[in-house]
This record gives sequence, structure tokens and C-alpha cells, in this order.
Amino acid sequence: MILGILGGGQLGRMLALAAAPLGVRVRVWDPDARCSASCAAEIFARPLDAAHVADFAAGLTACTYEFEHIPHAVVEGLEHAGVPLRPGEAAFAAKHDRLREKELLTSLGIPTAPFAAVDDAAGAHAAAQRLGLPLVFKSRRGGYDGKGQAVVREAGALATSLAACGGRDVLAEAFIRFEREVSLVAVRGLDGSFAAWPLVENLHRDGILRRTLAPAAGAAALQAQAEAHMRSLMQHLGYVGVLAIEFFQVGGALMVNEFAPRVHNSGHWSIEGSEASQFENHVRAVCGLPLGSTALRGHSVMFNYLGREAVRAAVLAVPDAHLHTYAKGERPRRKLGHITVRCDSAAARDAVLAQLEPLAPWE
Ligand code: AMP
Repeated sequence: MILGILGGGQLGRMLALAAAPLGVRVRVWDPDARCSASCAAEIFARPLDAAHVADFAAGLTACTYEFEHIPHAVVEGLEHAGVPLRPGEAAFAAKHDRLREKELLTSLGIPTAPFAAVDDAAGAHAAAQRLGLPLVFKSRRGGYDGKGQAVVREAGALATSLAACGGRDVLAEAFIRFEREVSLVAVRGLDGSFAAWPLVENLHRDGILRRTLAPAAGAAALQAQAEAHMRSLMQHLGYVGVLAIEFFQVGGALMVNEFAPRVHNSGHWSIEGSEASQFENHVRAVCGLPLGSTALRGHSVMFNYLGREAVRAAVLAVPDAHLHTYAKGERPRRKLGHITVRCDSAAARDAVLAQLEPLAPWE
């Protein structure tokens, strides 16, 4: 069984590492032969375009991906070669435009922040009237990790903030005064089987995920609500694989910020913190294998680190710490790896937090 993966960054790497024990070989399509996934996969080092699809697809059981910008010609090429792409095109097409994503969620009755499309100064003022201030501008296409976003606190700043987000094709959202951010990661099998991990709590810094606590404390009452939203989105998309939904918690209610049709940073803790990780379960699902258990193994926390490699010996000297470097070059603000701590109790885990955080660079 050979699984194709489009993209050889850290997600491709962790998928490939999870596939090996299952007896699933992995072929990664990434222009860089020395990409992050190259430690655990055969790398098909060609540009991602239609001309090479047939060669890439030869002998694959199925194909999945780690990013959402897959050229349509590549999708067609895989189809022509008879290789199923999972999750399918509907899942990532919905992510090409933040406005379409919000409209899709709304059409399914899934609550989001109130929103409006903005293409010029008049539209910006109309959005401010309707949504109130502060509001958040987000470029509809291409933004990630807080890039292409601006919080507008006063009417006088509407024009400059709009320009900072590209001037047009902007989504305006009401600014949500949430208590915390939580996310749900779940998996759907080829036969429609479903499993979810418990809700986790996420802390962002500079628009980038800094820390995930698993499980989120006191979130059991929200789990059914989150899973209902997850199931209706998965069903609508005919989804196969792991899907993540990021929520704002406001009182006892959840509001979707966005979803990710793939394994997700807020599920990385599951490598040590769950019976079967999000990576293993994604591989199982897209290969048509039975799903593994999402049961927790104690209490976990995951820290990302940016810019500079963590000092390996210092991290590994912390009891219960697990280092995951992505083997990427150091560059300011670049996600280079994560560290997970797994303990039998929340109290023990929290005792390690203070010791661990300074070991996770953020530069
Ligand atoms: P995003 O790129 O949409 O995930 O946004 C990055 C981060 O900005 C989120 O995780 C929130 O912390 C914050 N954020 C995004 N949208 C809103 C909003 N409508 N109201 C308040 N904070 C937001």
C-alpha cells in the first residue's frame, strides 16, 4: 500500500512517520528533495503541476495533502490515474476564500462571527455600521497565521487597515470578545465511521498558535455541540480523514473561527497524548483502514517554537517532555518544531509548564 502526500513540510513528515508502523509506504510530492518529510518518505521532487501527475500517481493506493492550494489540474490528473484524493476537492475548495468558508458554515446552521464582504471604503464604513467596532479585517485569500489581518478599533483607521489587507477582497468580522479559543479535531473513515478527540484549549501569540492544552478544562459540556457541528460539516463535504475546527468560546456557546481540512497544529499533542494520534488516524482513514482509538492518555500540553531550534539537551532533560523538530532551516518567525509534555494528571502537567515554556523559542 502506497500513500501519496502533496507537500513535504512538517505535516507531511508526521504523517509519513505515522504511516510506517502501519505498513503504509509514503510518496511525498514536494519540489525540495530535502524537505522536512524526507526523513520518512520517498520524495517526488518535481514542481507541483499537471505535467508530472501521472508519474507521481503510478502505483498509489490513495492520495492526501498537507496544504489547501492544490491546482485543479493536479486533482484532475489524479482522477484520470484512478487515484482517490482524500479528503476530496470540496473540502479544500471551501478554504480558498474566507468569505465562501463563512457562507458555507452559515448555510449549515453553524454559528460564526457576524461578517460582511468589503471591497472599498464605502463597504468598510457599511461593515463598521453593521458589525460595530472593533472589527477584524481579513484578506479573503492567502492569509494564514494572522497574516493579512487587522483589528480596526476606530472609524478613522478603516481606510488604512483596509489598505493593509489589500484594499479589496476583504472579509470583515465582528470582533468577538471570547473567553478562550478551543478546537475540535476529529476523523471520519471511508465507511462513514467517526471519532473525535476531546476539545482542546489553544493560546495564540502574534496570531500564531503558541500552546495547546489537552483536554480543555471544563469543556465536557461543550463537546456534544462541537461534535454536532463537526459531523454536519463532514457530512456535507463527504469527508474522509482528519478535520479540525477552531472555535471561540463565548459563555456556553461555540462560534466557529475557521476549519482546516487536514491534520492540524492543535492536534499535535495526540502523538503522545492519545491512543492513536491524528496522524495515524488520518493515514488509517484515507487508506480505507479501521480508525484507531482517540482515547486520552493522561493530560498533555504542546508548545510550538519559532525562529530558532530548541536546545535539544535542555528539552530532553525535562521529565515527560517530547521534542519534535521539523528539520527546517532557522528563519525569523518560522515554525521549526514543537514540544509535548504528557503527564498522568493536569496538576503534574501544569507543574512542568513554567519550566518548559522558556525552552520553546519565539523569535
Ligand atoms: P485566524 O487567522 O482567522 O485563525 O485568526 C488568528 C487569530 O486572531 C485567532 O486565533 C484569534 O485569536 C484572532 N481572531 C480572529 N478572528 C477574530 C474575531 N472575529 N474576533 C476576535 N479575535 C479574532
